[in-house]
Amino acid sequence: MEKRNFSEQSQKNQKKYKKTKRKEIKDPCTVCDEELYLNDVYTQRVGLLNDYEEVVGWMCPHCKSEFDSDGKIKNLGGTSNISGEA
Ligand SMILES: [Zn+2]
Repeated sequence: MEKRNFSEQSQKNQKKYKKTKRKEIKDPCTVCDEELYLNDVYTQRVGLLNDYEEVVGWMCPHCKSEFDSDGKIKNLGGTSNISGEA
């Protein structure tokens, strides 16, 4: 029976796994890809409140895009190529 050395192969794969990213973004904004991560408790998201002071969503502090509490885009900010309603 032929035996192959599989452990050598897996070691090569581990080397490939080495981190080469210059900037690691933990929690990117889906619109501008900027970092929204602040620490384990807070993000950089700006909370949006309604008239009853209830949190209804959040805003990206980088591109000013607004999202609802499900993370769906409500309002794209800072981008002028989106045609707004009059
Ligand atoms: Zn953003």
